[in-house]
Amino acid sequence: MSIKVPLPGMELGHVNIYILKCDDGYGLIDVGLATYEAALALLRGLKSMGIKPGQITKVYVTHFHVDHITLAQLLSEVASPEFHIGSEELKTPFDEFVKLLLDEYKQLGVPTEIIEGFQKFHPVARFRKAYEDVWRIQWRGVTDGEELDCGIRAMWTPGHTPGHMVYLSQAGVYTGDHILPKITPNISWIPRDGFNPLGEYLKSLRKTHMETVAYPAHGDPIVDLPKRVEELLEHHQRRLGELLHLLSRPMSLYEVAKNLTWSLGKFEQFDIYNKLFAIGEAYSHILYLESTGQIRRIESEPPRWVSL
Ligand SMILES: [Zn+2]
Repeated sequence: MSIKVPLPGMELGHVNIYILKCDDGYGLIDVGLATYEAALALLRGLKSMGIKPGQITKVYVTHFHVDHITLAQLLSEVASPEFHIGSEELKTPFDEFVKLLLDEYKQLGVPTEIIEGFQKFHPVARFRKAYEDVWRIQWRGVTDGEELDCGIRAMWTPGHTPGHMVYLSQAGVYTGDHILPKITPNISWIPRDGFNPLGEYLKSLRKTHMETVAYPAHGDPIVDLPKRVEELLEHHQRRLGELLHLLSRPMSLYEVAKNLTWSLGKFEQFDIYNKLFAIGEAYSHILYLESTGQIRRIESEPPRWVSL
């Protein structure tokens, strides 16, 4: 059972909230975005299934992103569920997140207009109030392999975020944003020491190469999960190959983002939001190649990277 909860103003269109049957009521996988439309859709969806909000006894969130978590406060007003999230996710300093990210990008030569746009458009900034509320909820940190109520087991899949969890059940695996059917999940640099997002993501992808149905947070169920995992692995291999080729001459992060090919079209025509995603994605690929010793960083103003 699932409810399609709208994401007003977001290209993804909707987030799937999955409903689990538990011994003492019902559980939700993810809760949705803190907007009027989303709240209405969630409550109406539950009503159509004959579920009263008070019967929600468990919430399992896949990761700390705005479209998955910010409606949690509303739920805590109408019910008293136990709220669960990957324990590593609780270490993300959401209040300093934007500043730390901006400082790093500034230092890496990302133009000021993008940095300034970032302050306005980044979801953490736009949903600041909702995040503050959600941060105050008593979260229970879930660890890798943990057996949970409602017949699910947690599997830690860092990459899209450091504490991303997928939840395994008899029916299949709830993949959050770790694996999506149509688009490649965004794998961006985030301000956390020693976190190599793409390196972690590729490992997590291999962990979820499983013969089961996947229930993603956006889009329809994925019947052939191994095939989708292979496609995602190939996508990143291709992208790494392209980056390695580009860096036969030294380039800064911003030059890399401008010169990589993007499925959405030309970087110059992106809105600020997509430019930010592209820069984050470019940086995670740079860090990966640096960690495998295939490129090296040149200390210049701004820093550049070159293939070895
Ligand atoms: Zn996400």
